[in-house]
Amino acid sequence: MDHAGRRARAAARSGAAGVAALLLSPGSDLTYLSGYRIFSSERLTCLVLANDGTSTLVVPELESPRAIAAAPDLAPVTWGETADPYALVASLVPGGSGAIGVSDQMWASFALGLQRALPGREFRLASEITRELRMRKDPAELDALRAVSAAADRAFGRALDLEFEGRTERQVGADLAALLRDEGHDEVMFTIVAAGEDGASPHHQTGHRVIRNGDTVVLDFGGTRAGYGSDITRTVQVGGRPTAEAVQVHDVVRRAQEAGYAAARTGATAQSVDAAARAVIAEAGYGDFFIHRLGHGIGLDGHEHPYLVSGNEQVLEPGMAFSLEPGVYLPGRFGVRIEDIAIVGPDGRCEGLNQVDRALATVR
Ligand code: ZN
Ligand code: ZN
Ligand code: ZN
Repeated sequence: MDHAGRRARAAARSGAAGVAALLLSPGSDLTYLSGYRIFSSERLTCLVLANDGTSTLVVPELESPRAIAAAPDLAPVTWGETADPYALVASLVPGGSGAIGVSDQMWASFALGLQRALPGREFRLASEITRELRMRKDPAELDALRAVSAAADRAFGRALDLEFEGRTERQVGADLAALLRDEGHDEVMFTIVAAGEDGASPHHQTGHRVIRNGDTVVLDFGGTRAGYGSDITRTVQVGGRPTAEAVQVHDVVRRAQEAGYAAARTGATAQSVDAAARAVIAEAGYGDFFIHRLGHGIGLDGHEHPYLVSGNEQVLEPGMAFSLEPGVYLPGRFGVRIEDIAIVGPDGRCEGLNQVDRALATVR
């Protein structure tokens, strides 16, 4: 990953936007611009990227070995346990009246501390600068997304051999997590197993419900590999013999996703892709039961720009990556969702990174 090139582009954009420096604490913007991935803690870690291109990584002394290993091209400036890291960061910010861009994921305690240390400066969100860069993935990022999506596909393929009937959602969820790791994920971020009526809650909290023969089950799971996320949903039927309505709803959702694929191309707006998929579901009479946007961008964050949602006029371009995940949720009964991660390719067409079969598969 070309972190130095990304920093140069971010610095140039900052200068053009009247931002004196970006202040990035642990989170995806920091990782994007430096390669450094670190948990957030009460000790301030902050990349100071001035608009002249100078970058300094301010780190707590005890974390400097880790920081040097992760971002060897950034000489860290360390602070000891009793020092004032806010004064240190402020001393690295170019003087004058330029604004300060703080990472969207910065803890409020740090943002307020930096505001006190830099009185009179305008504070803005760093995403004003980083969003445009991060939305257009470079080839190395697209390779990372391909690899992690392929791993999720393999995990789903093996999940079809799991035993569902008589086990709890949680037990199946633990199996899904193990499959993700076994297929090459570094971290598992979520495993939604939503059986029967639980499937009507799109972000169901996988619980103790026992899965029964005849249940339609929504499986939505993902994690990260080399920092980049997977996110896949398939809906399965326990024991075969789905109801006629489950078959019908599944077919509607599948056709809605195909409409999304066809609409997602260079030059289309994000909202037009949502509208194309939504129209299929509305025509089938289920419009009131598709209660979320069609998709979200994905990369270093599991949800990021661009969002495929009504009102978003963002124009799609090659290198953008997002989910296509229509669903129908029938309260008290069942739900169906099908989700792939897709990218806009160099030819302007949408390419699915998840290719594992989308049919309403039978599980035991
Ligand atoms: Zn979701
Ligand atoms: Zn998902
Ligand atoms: Zn998703």
